[in-house]
Amino acid sequence: MYCGDGLGTDIDHFEPLAEAPLRAFDWPNHLLACSHCNSHQKRESFPRDEDGTTLLVDPSAEDPYEHLELVLSTGVYEALTSRGGVTIGVFGLNRADLVRGRASAFVRTVSMLRDRARLLQSSDHEEAAEIAASLRDQPFADVLYAMLRYRDMPGADRVLRGGEVVDALADPALHLWS
Ligand SMILES: [Zn+2]
Repeated sequence: MYCGDGLGTDIDHFEPLAEAPLRAFDWPNHLLACSHCNSHQKRESFPRDEDGTTLLVDPSAEDPYEHLELVLSTGVYEALTSRGGVTIGVFGLNRADLVRGRASAFVRTVSMLRDRARLLQSSDHEEAAEIAASLRDQPFADVLYAMLRYRDMPGADRVLRGGEVVDALADPALHLWS
């Protein structure tokens, strides 16, 4: 998935068939994408540098956050590398609906994490488990992923709106990617 809006319905050939017909049945070349990213944004574009190496970040093989940084309060992706910049451009990662969706997913996630911490303290484990499941399933899972990455960084409590949220992110139930 590229944009994280949870609407992955298309299969994108990361390296387009026109350029790499032999990779048509190569499993790692198949990525789930939403139809907007696949059909309206990426299409056949596959920029390369002068050595032929792709300039797009391959989310199946590398950590996108080495190249991209999500500003949680605004929902905007900023490029950390030139490949990050190309990826933002080709997929339109900062189109208005996605930016708005990520900013509100951040507000929702902060509030759900506070709720879950309180429920765990009062030993309501059933509702706390429902919240964890919903956090893992919600659209814009990239927001939760970015929050988990920020957790260990200096100033995390300011970015993540309080130590309570930083502590709640230590929860192994939320560590989907580790
Ligand atoms: Zn998409």
